[in-house]
Amino acid sequence: MVKKKIGVIGIQGAITEHIHSMQNALMESSVKGEVLIVKDRKQIKFLDALIIPGGESTTISKLINKFGFEKEILKRIENKDLALMGTCAGCTILASELLDNFHDVKLLNAMNIAVKRNAFGRQKESFEQKIKIKNFKHAYNAVFIRAPAIEKIWNNCEILAKIDDKIVMARQDNLLAMSFHPELTDDLRIHKYFLDII
Ligand code: GLN
Repeated sequence: MVKKKIGVIGIQGAITEHIHSMQNALMESSVKGEVLIVKDRKQIKFLDALIIPGGESTTISKLINKFGFEKEILKRIENKDLALMGTCAGCTILASELLDNFHDVKLLNAMNIAVKRNAFGRQKESFEQKIKIKNFKHAYNAVFIRAPAIEKIWNNCEILAKIDDKIVMARQDNLLAMSFHPELTDDLRIHKYFLDII
């Protein structure tokens, strides 16, 4: 069986945590795969899936652009043959609209979502909250760190989780965005969910 290749953009942010979570998820899943750190745009054409981690959206997006990753990613998602998961800052980068617009993030325009950064206010810079995710049997304890919120979705994008009126997880075909950090918990359900949509 051909192994699925799952890349994690290795520029900045929670890179090793995603690699470990995905490796652990693979061990518990029937999907055969390997996880690689992506540091060169040429790697992108060989991937089945790509994770854009949390970190600083400004830095990550600028470097994605500068290193030429952006073009490769957009080519692949146009063909719908690359699954993408963006977490926290990665969620912002997948968006088509930035509502706090300081024009300092180079958006990928991959998903029909509008995002506001640091949307949970100062007192709540970092927090954990149990959330209900569509089709998950049990509540999920989500870790938020200066998290963005998805304020709007449109067309074929679907809401998977909310906190009050803020959307915190959304899916559009094989593209997945969430404002929290699934790589910072032992709960592997999000990484497994992503494996299922590759
Ligand atoms: N607020 C940060 C940004 O958008 C995201 C923080 C994070 O990824 N934990 O750059």
